[in-house]
Amino acid sequence: MENEKKNVFSGIQPTGIPTLGNYLGAMRNWPLLQEEYHCIYSVVDLHSLTVRQEPANLRRQTLSLVALLLACGINPEKSLLFIQSHVPAHAELAWLLNCYTQFGELSRMTQFKDKSAKHPDNINAGLFCYPVLMAADILLYQADLVPVGADQKQHMELARDVAGRFNGIYGDVFRIPEPYIPKDGARVMSLQEPAKKMSKSDENPNAYILLLDDADTILRKFRRAVTDSEAEVVCREGKDGINNLISIYSIVTGKTVPEVEHEFAGKGYGDFKTAVGEAVAEALRPVRETYADLLKNKDYLADVYTKGAEKARAIAGRTYAKACKKLGLVLPQRP
Ligand code: ATP
Ligand code: MG
Repeated sequence: MENEKKNVFSGIQPTGIPTLGNYLGAMRNWPLLQEEYHCIYSVVDLHSLTVRQEPANLRRQTLSLVALLLACGINPEKSLLFIQSHVPAHAELAWLLNCYTQFGELSRMTQFKDKSAKHPDNINAGLFCYPVLMAADILLYQADLVPVGADQKQHMELARDVAGRFNGIYGDVFRIPEPYIPKDGARVMSLQEPAKKMSKSDENPNAYILLLDDADTILRKFRRAVTDSEAEVVCREGKDGINNLISIYSIVTGKTVPEVEHEFAGKGYGDFKTAVGEAVAEALRPVRETYADLLKNKDYLADVYTKGAEKARAIAGRTYAKACKKLGLVLPQRP
C-alpha cells in the first residue's frame, strides 16, 4: 500500500558535472529505488555555497544537474525532484538543529578537515555547519533510508545523533534515518591519486571521469590512470590503482572480480585500461544522449523542479512546524 512505502531522501551538490564516482556511488542507484520507496531527490545548491562558486556556473550546473538526474532515470511521476533553495524549511530547520549540535562533534568531521585544508582562505561557518544542513535535508522528509556513497557515512551518523538527541528531549519529531550504502561503487577512487576518492571538485581533470565526457576523453583519461610497476591485473592490497579499475570495470560490465582477473590474465595494463575506458564510455552513452535531449527543453525542466518544490514544501513545512511547536516557538496564525 502507498502509505506503507518507506521514504528515501538523497541530494547531490551542483559543484560541477557529476563524476563516475557520483554515478556509481549514488545517482545510478536512485532510479532503482523508485518502485519500492517514496523517493525524494534534491539538487542541494545551498550546500555548494560552502565553497566559492561563480554565479553563472552555479546557475548552469544546477539546471544541468536536474537534466542529468532525469537522464539517469529519475521519473518525476514517481519521485520528487527539486532544488533545495526552493524549500526554505531546509535552511530554517538547519538553524534549529545547529542549536542542538556541538562544536566538538562538527570539528571531528573529516570532510570539514579535508575541505578546509583545500580552501585555507575560506574556512567559513557554512562549511563547518554543512553536516547540520544535511541532517535537516534528511529529517524534514522523515527519511528511512539515505542512499549515499561511503564518504557520507560520518555525516549520516551525525544526522542520526542529532535526531536522536532532539527526539530524546522533545518526543518523536524525526524518524531516525539509515544510510543505504551500495556494496559496489560506494567509493570510486581518483584515477591520478588512487588513495583519494574521485571528486568533481578535484583540480586535476585527469583524476575524474565526468558523466558528460565524450568517449575519446574517457579513453584518454583511463589510459593515463596511475597504476603500479607490476603488470598483473589482480585485486590485491597495495594495488590501489588497479583495484579501482577492476572495481569500475566489474560494476559497469556486471562481471565478478575473479571473472575480470581471468579475462585479463597474461595481458598488460594497456589492454586492460583500454577495455575499462571502452566499457565506461558505453555505459555512460545513453545518459549523455538523453541529457542532450532534455537540456533542449528548459520549460519541461522548469515544470519538473517547480512542481517538485511545491510538493516538497508541503512535506517539509509540516516537519518544520512540528519541530518549532515542540521547541516552544509561537507558530504564526493562519489567516
Ligand atoms: P564535492 O567534491 O563538491 O563534495 P562530490 O563529488 O563529493 O563533490 P557530492 O555532491 O558531495 O559530490 O556527493 C553526491 C553523492 O555522490 C553522495 O552520495 C556521495 O557520497 C557520492 N559520492 C561522491 N564521490 C563519490 C565517490 N568517489 N565514489 C562513490 N560515491 C561518491
Ligand atoms: Mg562531496
